[in-house]
Amino acid sequence: MNKKQLWKVLSSAALAASILVPQVGFAEGAKPITEETPSVKGYIDYEELKQRLSQIEKASNGLVQVESAGKTNQGRDIFSARVGQGDKVVLVQSEIHGNEKTGTEALLNILQYLGSSQSPEAKKIREELTIVAIPMMNADGSELDRRGNVMSWEEVVEDFPQLQNARPTWNYYNRTLQGDDYTSNPGFDVNRDFNPDLNYVPKPEDFPGNSSTAGWYITPEAQTVRDVYKSLKEEFGNVEVFMDLHHQNFYTVEGSDREVTMSISADFVPDPNTPRGAKYSQYADQFRFDFSRQLNVALYDAIQEKGNSIFTNITLYDQDLDLPGTALGAFSLNGSGIVIFEVKGQTQNFGQKMKGQLVKTVETGLMGVMNGVAEGSVYELNPEDYHEIPNRVRK
Ligand SMILES: [Zn+2]
Repeated sequence: MNKKQLWKVLSSAALAASILVPQVGFAEGAKPITEETPSVKGYIDYEELKQRLSQIEKASNGLVQVESAGKTNQGRDIFSARVGQGDKVVLVQSEIHGNEKTGTEALLNILQYLGSSQSPEAKKIREELTIVAIPMMNADGSELDRRGNVMSWEEVVEDFPQLQNARPTWNYYNRTLQGDDYTSNPGFDVNRDFNPDLNYVPKPEDFPGNSSTAGWYITPEAQTVRDVYKSLKEEFGNVEVFMDLHHQNFYTVEGSDREVTMSISADFVPDPNTPRGAKYSQYADQFRFDFSRQLNVALYDAIQEKGNSIFTNITLYDQDLDLPGTALGAFSLNGSGIVIFEVKGQTQNFGQKMKGQLVKTVETGLMGVMNGVAEGSVYELNPEDYHEIPNRVRK
């Protein structure tokens, strides 16, 4: 986010109360003050997630395996569902922000398809890839339809007594944010709790941190995904692709008045092979910016093929970011090609409007990437084409 954009966010009335809190860049959009909160009942909740996963697993005759990979802070299961026997791993997660819900639906639809279809496409993907999906990874936040998880700083200190004199992290929510009151029920932005050092143990001197320092794996949700990532890395040598499914605010496609349906990106930390990324030089050999860009191009091309419709209003997300505490930043430094999906509208300002089309957009993008990796065509794409994808402009 540039300074002008940051000022626009900071100057919006709804966020004025949180102006003293740094790094509001990702906390875009507040609940409308005068209107009812838009309904999200059309989206899957945690109970439905459990039912759907178990139905998909049963119907797949062994093709889909579902297990609990860990527990949220409130004790809900964090499920991982696996399909395919290929030697390339594609890891995808949804709802690390619990008010960003299309990804969970898209993942369930894809698991159902890959677990039951005998189409050449599904067979090819099962043959070449191992897909591991972690839908609704922040189930506690999802149940409250809010961005953060549910965890107090006191609980963190219980888990990590070495932090008893440390300051709570910069991504700790204990105020009102996006219309959600965290004062009596605080939590963390789990998507700043990752660290490229997968074996990192919290040290008091690394607190409270900021957006361009790594996270700490203090939340059980981030720990669980880190553990899944590590075990896949051990089993396969590398996690080829990592994709993270989000929502953003409202933008237009640069040079037009068309509203952006989804923004995508390959860029969450500076390339360790460049001067700007020198602080990550220990990860230089395994960093694959070209491959991440190829994945994004494959996604973009797959959606453009849908023709002239809402589906084609796709842009890049903000570029030149330095966010090593995001799952995408941390895992890209560990050798994964990455894609972020940022679908328009969070539930606090968009409810479940256009749910069908938006879920379809995410599905199309995911399938585009999976097909490209399974067929090998993605490796032939020109990474520079990534920069031909238009930028987004704040409305
Ligand atoms: Zn998000």
